[in-house]
Amino acid sequence: MGWGIFNLLADVLFPSYCAVCGKVLIGKDNYAVACGNCWNEHFKAYKGVKCLICGHPVEKLPGSGNLCKRCLESGRRFYFEGVDFFGIYEGLIEYAIHELKFEKNLPVARFIGREISKHLKSFATKNRVDVITFVPVSEERKKERGYDQCEEILKATGVNFKKLLEKTVETERQATLEFFRRKENIKECFEVIQNVKGKRILLFDDVFTTGATANEAAKTLKEAGAKKVFVFTVAYTILKKE
Ligand SMILES: [Zn+2]
Ligand SMILES: [Zn+2]
Repeated sequence: MGWGIFNLLADVLFPSYCAVCGKVLIGKDNYAVACGNCWNEHFKAYKGVKCLICGHPVEKLPGSGNLCKRCLESGRRFYFEGVDFFGIYEGLIEYAIHELKFEKNLPVARFIGREISKHLKSFATKNRVDVITFVPVSEERKKERGYDQCEEILKATGVNFKKLLEKTVETERQATLEFFRRKENIKECFEVIQNVKGKRILLFDDVFTTGATANEAAKTLKEAGAKKVFVFTVAYTILKKE
């Protein structure tokens, strides 16, 4: 079925606008957050060197070689074996994720998933992963929002994936917390719900900020016998200068 008369009517009565240039969005673009041109121009992959340990763009926090300053100086280690991401958490990428997570704009998941699909698949192939999974929201939050944003993005990428984790403890919104409190906040909030013994796992999440969430999820998977965990996110938050 094509673009029906009701949708056409909705377009006229409740137009939506491109978040970048302000143009009215019509037809299939109605549910996107930006017009085709702006989307292509602003939903861009980051092509620079990423820290071997935490994935942070090295040029934005130079350490040595393939290490960022923070990993180099702190010698910190995570439970996951590496991080890759699509783009930097800013501009249209930040806006689109925010719409999906907090504004109940579900259709934007399709646009995000389609965009990151190739990158995600090649990261999975490169690391010879057995299974792709995601960092879930709690059942409670899923009910309130109507969906789990990471699950919806993955559906749109066309990859096969499985839900391996359950979030059993509701946590405060991470974005509002300081780094050290983040770690405490998400401690022991995940549970493994399928057999992961000996598996190489790709753990998908929407945004990588301090790594506290991905680290806790990876720890839970490792403790259940997972062999390797590789993290892939849509976006990466650049560390503010201290
Ligand atoms: Zn535009
Ligand atoms: Zn690093």
